[in-house]
Amino acid sequence: MDAVEAAIVVLEEDPTFDAGFGSHLNRDGRVELDAIIMDGATLNAGAVACVEHVRNPIRLARKVMDSSEHFMLVGRGAEQFAAEQGLALCQPEELVIPRELNAWKRCKESNHSPEHHDMRSHGTVGAVARDTQGNIVAGTSTGGTCCKLPGRVGDSPLIGCGCYADSAAGGISCTGWGEAIMKIVMAKTAADFLRSPAGGASLSSQQAAAAAVRLLAERAQGTGGLILLDREGRPGFAFNTPRMAYGYVTDNGTIFTSA
Ligand code: ASP
Repeated sequence: MDAVEAAIVVLEEDPTFDAGFGSHLNRDGRVELDAIIMDGATLNAGAVACVEHVRNPIRLARKVMDSSEHFMLVGRGAEQFAAEQGLALCQPEELVIPRELNAWKRCKESNHSPEHHDMRSHGTVGAVARDTQGNIVAGTSTGGTCCKLPGRVGDSPLIGCGCYADSAAGGISCTGWGEAIMKIVMAKTAADFLRSPAGGASLSSQQAAAAAVRLLAERAQGTGGLILLDREGRPGFAFNTPRMAYGYVTDNGTIFTSA
């Protein structure tokens, strides 16, 4: 749990990605953040959506899971809970960077287009970890899609859509076009692909990742990708976008990253 939270905080702080600081702006020029963390041992989850005053929404998602009786808080209530839990609130402007402000202005002058975003219109972050006891945790954090309507929530913070963890199957974090990912409940679908069917063999981690993305394309005409670990800790990745950055660390500390 700590590893997933820490990894996602690093990515939220890195303006390369569409999560936390440096996220895409909504139609009103504001950052609205969504995040989720899920514990595969208990199937408990904590999620937040539409927060504007929280720099690291994954930390707040963890607080929701650990310190509330609920799974998901949104907007003002989520921010009130953050303050009650002692998380520092930030000013919304602190999350906005010049690159995104320029892209937003260009989208406003003409129409929203990935070209205004240097062709990088997504960049949700996620992490999955398995501990020595075989417990799996997954998390996802996003600024959502650029020029989204205020109040829009995509797949990312929804249990089973942008994230799922079940230590008996695996842990998954998704990225891509949220409205399509929700149609096929992609993270849970990938988890089910990892489960052994009665009397049969389950798909490998790589086959399960590829099958979920194939379903996204075929059934929802969507683009996206996912990272996963199966219940033995074997990684899988798949995407049908031009690129998706990913990497993993083995139990002996060796680091692999995508080119
Ligand atoms: N899935 C995210 C959303 O729809 C966006 C992304 O992954 O880039 O909010």
